[in-house]
Amino acid sequence: MRLVFATGNQGKMREIRDIMSDSGYEIVSMKEAGVNPEIEEDGKTFEENAMIKARAVSKLLPDDLVLADDSGLEVDALGGEPGIYSARYLGHDTPYSVKNADIIRRLEGKEGAERSARFVCAIAAVFPDGKEKCVRATIEGQIGFEEKGEHGFGFDPIFYVPELGCTTAEIPESEKNKISHRGKALKLMKEELKKA
Ligand code: IMP
Repeated sequence: MRLVFATGNQGKMREIRDIMSDSGYEIVSMKEAGVNPEIEEDGKTFEENAMIKARAVSKLLPDDLVLADDSGLEVDALGGEPGIYSARYLGHDTPYSVKNADIIRRLEGKEGAERSARFVCAIAAVFPDGKEKCVRATIEGQIGFEEKGEHGFGFDPIFYVPELGCTTAEIPESEKNKISHRGKALKLMKEELKKA
């Protein structure tokens, strides 16, 4: 059976292929499956948004297993912001250097645990028989005092992981995938698929 991952992001496709390669499914992107629907992500949680995407693509590809993810950064001192609005924080096209500087500025005067944050990833699955599943995973960290590292993307340069002693932008993609919210959620989903 085919597993279609509802994303246009090449990095996510690499990661899912890496983790799901031995799952028994033929893994294809939305583009490879020939669909690219306009989807309004108007859910209130990561889970809702992941499910909205998976259902929309499943409607177009009813014979395939469809997976979709939604992820973002939650900063505790900012009441969980940017959360589900992470990609849109300060505007979609605003450079991350600006977004990251803004988050650092808003945490001025805060130290250590007061800078706690996490990356969250929800992955939803819709099966050809209409059954649905959703999993969530996180990686805990703190907002750094400046951008550090050249790897990764988005908020990685300000996401400091105490256990690593560095940001998620300072480790190679392959290392990050082992401990990241998305890597962990993909592994949880893989377990769910085995049970299905
Ligand atoms: P989406 O799940 O593709 O909608 O991504 C949501 C947004 O969350 C991204 O555009 C980033 O701003 C942020 N984000 C999610 N995961 C990561 C990560 O691993 N590193 C850095 N930023 C992330």
